[in-house]
Amino acid sequence: MLRTIANRFYADYLLPDRLHVLGTLIESALQVGYVHKTISNHFLQLSTEPKAMSELVFIHRTDVDTDCGTARKMFEVFKSFGITSTFYFRRSTLDVRLMRELHDSGFEVGYHYEEIADFCKELRTLDPMRVSNAIPDLKLRFFKNLKSMESAAGFKFTSVASHGDFVNRKLGIPNHTLIDADLISDAGLILEAYNPVLLDSLTDYTSDSAFPTFYREGRSPFDAVKRGSDGILFLSHPRHWHAAPWLNFKDTLIRLKEGLLIR
Ligand SMILES: [Zn+2]
Repeated sequence: MLRTIANRFYADYLLPDRLHVLGTLIESALQVGYVHKTISNHFLQLSTEPKAMSELVFIHRTDVDTDCGTARKMFEVFKSFGITSTFYFRRSTLDVRLMRELHDSGFEVGYHYEEIADFCKELRTLDPMRVSNAIPDLKLRFFKNLKSMESAAGFKFTSVASHGDFVNRKLGIPNHTLIDADLISDAGLILEAYNPVLLDSLTDYTSDSAFPTFYREGRSPFDAVKRGSDGILFLSHPRHWHAAPWLNFKDTLIRLKEGLLIR
């Protein structure tokens, strides 16, 4: 317990900048011939250019849960290697300037949605039946929020990605439960980032995590590159690459408050 608290404190407030590690990952993938793609581009190519699937594919997906400043630094790292990737923004991390710069540089920008978690927080409930009854309303709310994010950004999104909140873990219902083919089509989107066809097309799906492991379940994207995996999707979050003490402090307070309200 004490070690967990110490690790969390170190990760939130003392972690040295790790953006150079992201650069090394991109460099090592480029050296062995990986083609870097956005999520929507890869998904579209699956049906239109199956020949291209013989390539070694690397997809970087960054969920901007917190810290747009570090998200910008990650964008600069990707750009410095001449590659593009996909960034998803929550309503709480909407950063119009960054979103437009990403879009203008050929990156993909999408909505990191969390309507089910928001609903539970607002009603202070973890009752699956209430959530289930609210799904039609939450679909509508998703649609409105998506349009509002697109309108602020000034361009159309092609994909969205479900945010994994502590509320979803407690509830046992992920945010993407409310997404179906009709909603994707009505919203003019190409896909949701947890689309099974997308994930089945990739051999390795790995994610970053907090100090001291840095990669969830110890599954490092560096190992996948070394193995010559033919398709890698690496999910990253700004907070694991550069500590933002004040933002992390505020985030911890919000999380504690929400934890007390929803039990
Ligand atoms: Zn998230």
